[in-house]
Amino acid sequence: MFSYTWRGAVWIILYLFFILAPLFVLLAASLPPSRDFWTEFSAAIGYAGLAMMGLQFGLTARFRYVTEPWGEDVIYHFHRQVSLIAVGLVIAHPLILFVVRPELLGLLNSITAPWRARWAALSVYSLIALIVMALWRVQLKIRYETWHLTHIVLAIVAVTAGLLHMVGWGFYLTNPWKRALWIGLTIFWIGLLLYVRLVKPLFMLRRPYRVTEVRKERGDTTTLVMHPDGHPGFRFTPGQFGWLTVWGSPFKITGHPFSFSSSAEVTDGRVDMSIRNLGDFTSEIHKVPVGKRVYLDGPYGAFTIGHPADIHVLIAGGVGVTPMVAMIRTLADRGDQRPVILLYGSNDWESITFREELEALQARLNLTVIHVLRNPPPSWTGEQGFITAEVFKRHLPPPYADHEYFICGPAVMMDVIEEALAEMHVPMSKYHSERYSFV
Ligand SMILES: Cc1cc2nc3c(=O)[nH]c(=O)nc-3n(C[C@H](O)[C@H](O)[C@H](O)COP(=O)(O)OP(=O)(O)OC[C@H]3O[C@@H](n4cnc5c(N)ncnc54)[C@H](O)[C@@H]3O)c2cc1C
Repeated sequence: MFSYTWRGAVWIILYLFFILAPLFVLLAASLPPSRDFWTEFSAAIGYAGLAMMGLQFGLTARFRYVTEPWGEDVIYHFHRQVSLIAVGLVIAHPLILFVVRPELLGLLNSITAPWRARWAALSVYSLIALIVMALWRVQLKIRYETWHLTHIVLAIVAVTAGLLHMVGWGFYLTNPWKRALWIGLTIFWIGLLLYVRLVKPLFMLRRPYRVTEVRKERGDTTTLVMHPDGHPGFRFTPGQFGWLTVWGSPFKITGHPFSFSSSAEVTDGRVDMSIRNLGDFTSEIHKVPVGKRVYLDGPYGAFTIGHPADIHVLIAGGVGVTPMVAMIRTLADRGDQRPVILLYGSNDWESITFREELEALQARLNLTVIHVLRNPPPSWTGEQGFITAEVFKRHLPPPYADHEYFICGPAVMMDVIEEALAEMHVPMSKYHSERYSFV
């Protein structure tokens, strides 16, 4: 199979092509009279910024073939960073013009300005609102769902208004086929969004799942056991996740991401998700009735075992244990006897999700579980506090760089652990992280 490295390289080349090619096309065939350097430069960054903004629709279109080499969280991280660059370019475009041609400042008055300038203003204001809401959603106390819908609307407005501004201004787009190319590109970008919001949900609608068991777990967590309804389902690799829609149709933008917690070795399409009560959607999960029809979009993610390793070291904080349990159950079902060490941070002894099952699994594979408790009972002699480099050193045999590490838990814990691994000279290629928040 085409290796992830090669596939990743091809997608990077294609990405750069889609950003740069439309820009160079503007320089082909007949050219308008040339202007001063800064005016031309500002036009170039405006076009490049818009092309980058447009391709953002592709980054979040959940194309499994594209995201597989990196994993979804890396793609969303890239999406955030590229957005900042793209918006910076788009905003720098008028700012440079205002400096070199101050007479254009009059265009800021949207009452008297022509439509081509009004579109530009609408595009820039939408982008500023989009960035402010994305960076400070939590501080602004905006609900995730409200933010998500607004994000999509603002992005469409920004890109469409940007295109109308370019076409209205003409200059490089007076040539009909250049104009057609940019209009076609914009339709293509928005088509990517329609794909994820219309085509994919249609596919999911035809491949529903049924909840066959609702199981209460320790730690305010509920496991939904789901089976495909009238189709074979999908296979996944342990550690991957899917988007779950419980209430309503898959067309609503309310899918929530959850790791699969079941073994990947089951052959009847069964998928379990273990969900901790952390907010408005997750607090309702225990009320889901058996037999309920739900929708799953997956599998996604690159947080998976399968790399050659002497020891698998799984580091979990709280509900971050779900992908680890999928890995452990899968390794047990495969009869894999390589050592697995699970360092598992929980609040207290009673809230350790899967505690009894992990004990039982130690009989089926070479598994060591080290619980680290923040609030241990008085008789506790095990690890307490947080998982740190010291805890690693007490329980892991050197050389540390030979093991394969998997980390999932609260963001603060993950940062500390990644730093600790770097201090222990574990190369980045040897550790894998799954962050439970995209925004
Ligand atoms: C790859 C991945 C795997 C995950 N696996 C698990 C798991 O196995 N078990 C588990 O309990 N939790 C898991 N989570 C976290 C889970 O998705 C959130 O806790 C849940 O969506 C919160 O929804 P809420 O409405 O109850 O809470 P809210 O209070 O509305 O949200 C809490 C936070 O969760 C995030 N969030 C909320 N809604 C969404 C959404 N629709 N899409 C993306 N993020 C959202 C936001 O960052 C938000 O600030 C995972 C998250 C990711 C990204």
